[in-house]
Amino acid sequence: MLVRIILFLILFFIAYTLVNALLRLFGRYLSGMSDSSTGKTGVDSNAPASMVQCCQCSTYVPESDIIQRAVGGEIRQFCSRDCLQKFKQE
Ligand SMILES: [Zn+2]
Repeated sequence: MLVRIILFLILFFIAYTLVNALLRLFGRYLSGMSDSSTGKTGVDSNAPASMVQCCQCSTYVPESDIIQRAVGGEIRQFCSRDCLQKFKQE
């Protein structure tokens, strides 16, 4: 009897993780859909809304990877520390 309960718990756990993974995938898919459907009119319409342009090399980088520094009273965004250094030198 105990074995059956343990098996049931294991099955329940597997089903739960599977549903969780599917929901996460589906949620990402839905958010991707809404991102493109809103059609944000940025400076460059080719770049997705979550991408930020590096003000040194003009490369588009995901917002999470960006390095933000206040330079001369303005917030500047850089793709890497190298670009930040180059910008400071200029
Ligand atoms: Zn850069």
